[in-house]
Amino acid sequence: MKRLLIAGPCAAESREQVLTTARQIQAAVGGCVFRAGVWKPRTSPASFQGAGEEALEWLREVKAETGMPLATEVATAEHIRLALEAGVEYLWIGARTSASPIVVENLAEALTRYRQGADGACAVLPKVLIKNPVNPDARLWIGNIARLERSGLPVMAVHRGCAHRPSWRMAYRLRQERPDIPILLDPSHLTGERALVARAMEKIDVLGFDGAMIEVHCNPETALSDARQQITPAELGELLKTKMVAEPLDRCDDLAWLRAMIDEVDDDLWAKIEERMNLAEEIGGYKKKHLIPPLQQKRFEAILAQRLEWSKTHRISEDAVRGIMNALHQEALRRQQ
Ligand code: PEP
Ligand code: MN
Repeated sequence: MKRLLIAGPCAAESREQVLTTARQIQAAVGGCVFRAGVWKPRTSPASFQGAGEEALEWLREVKAETGMPLATEVATAEHIRLALEAGVEYLWIGARTSASPIVVENLAEALTRYRQGADGACAVLPKVLIKNPVNPDARLWIGNIARLERSGLPVMAVHRGCAHRPSWRMAYRLRQERPDIPILLDPSHLTGERALVARAMEKIDVLGFDGAMIEVHCNPETALSDARQQITPAELGELLKTKMVAEPLDRCDDLAWLRAMIDEVDDDLWAKIEERMNLAEEIGGYKKKHLIPPLQQKRFEAILAQRLEWSKTHRISEDAVRGIMNALHQEALRRQQ
């Protein structure tokens, strides 16, 4: 399958913002599927909730002018009806909705009725995209795909990570269990920061994703939602000179996936080491104030003994435990000087 590119703003904010962004994307990359959120599931009710139904008219204009197919997020049967009536070809189910199997079931039923023509005919039958749930639950993601497949419509998955972090294990599990399901990468929600989008996009070629969904805004700094992660159409054009360029992989590169998972664990590990050293420094402050020397041999021996006991049931050698604990302790003492 050729890689699919879906790009556009997080939210449709105004007619001008939607049309300007679409025109600039077309000029920069020669067209793609144009995305824009019409109904936005936000954490706070005080935040921008999307422009609603009116925005579908702006999307229609984008398609009429540029010919780009459309994508929008749906969370209710009514959203599906309105989006299909507006001629939207790609419907995606967002991460928050994807966390609720009952809601996904309802959406699958609504889609089935459309496919069977029971709820009125739509000009083109849509393709359905399902993001991973906000929690890293591969089984629920895979289950949601099965629910949606009952509609008979083509289903694709989107890996958008959890809390602005990837979960390569979750995506790998889906790849292994359902090699027939295309998976797109969403580097925008995966990182939450535009400076990190380019790096995340490298994984599309390396891990063999089937495409990308990227947030692109004509003026990202002023965006009403996800302002920190959106890039400009010109930046998208630049990125695509070097990303998403390799031939799609015809098999799953297991070593590349395993390495991505180990890099992810290393990121967590180093963040924890940094947290540990910051705590050690705080303890250093306390010791200074109370005239306690930094080196407390008894305390170190006690935590080392505890870890050695733990290692017996965790397949980590005694030598490794001693080496790592000594290195951590040395660095902690250095921070307490
Ligand atoms: C979005 O794509 O704008 C969106 C809300 O995504 P997610 O459901 O992944 O947070
Ligand atoms: Mn968004």
